[in-house]
Amino acid sequence: MTSRGFTKDMSRSYIGRALREQVSSEARHRCGYCLTSARIIGTPMEIDHIIPESLGGPTARENLWFACSMCNDH
Ligand SMILES: [Zn+2]
Repeated sequence: MTSRGFTKDMSRSYIGRALREQVSSEARHRCGYCLTSARIIGTPMEIDHIIPESLGGPTARENLWFACSMCNDH
C-alpha cells in the first residue's frame, strides 16, 4: 500500500450521547467485564464494540457494551 500522507480516520466512530446513555443504563453502569460499578472506579467509563469496527462491527446498541478503561485497554 502506498501512503499519500493523509490519515483516513475510520478507526473510531462517534457514539452519540443517547446511545452511550442507553448502553450505560442497560449495563446498570457497571463494567461488562469486571462488573465493577462506575461509581467505584471513579474514571470515565468507555463504550466498547463487541465486534470491533475493524472487523465490520456496527456502532449500534446490540454491538456495544460498557467497559471501564482498565478492561477496555486489553
Ligand atoms: Zn472493568
